[in-house]
Amino acid sequence: MSTLTEVGDRDGWRCWLCDEPVDPDMSVNDPRGPSIDAVTNAKPKKGAPVPERLAHRACNTRKGAVKAVVPWSSDLFVVDPAPIVETVERLSRKGGREVVARCPTHQDADQAADWLVDRLSRLAPDQRFATEVKPGGGQFLLALTTR
Ligand SMILES: [Zn+2]
Repeated sequence: MSTLTEVGDRDGWRCWLCDEPVDPDMSVNDPRGPSIDAVTNAKPKKGAPVPERLAHRACNTRKGAVKAVVPWSSDLFVVDPAPIVETVERLSRKGGREVVARCPTHQDADQAADWLVDRLSRLAPDQRFATEVKPGGGQFLLALTTR
């Protein structure tokens, strides 16, 4: 177990789920106050510690009782976006390439790619991701790859 300050400092006092700042001075009993979330969507390897992340109290998954959901930005034009947490977990484990969204234009896909890479730099700082945009079916497919 880490202390709240250790986890908060490591995550830059930003909530791993909603990507909004967390105020370290706010009461831990406040819904917007800081809390430690145990990342349990993925079954941890035997003996490995469950990763701990900083979350707002209201965003906390409460030891996995609430499924962790990282929303795509509402500013993006994406069709059928993949669930981010599950996709990142799979790619971190197995590597490879997964199509994560379809976009109406190349520009939309580029914007979504930029947003996703920036978001993942905080969500999964230990893993490097790259994006690919390819035309397909009259739209543009955005794929995420590990590197
Ligand atoms: Zn939050």
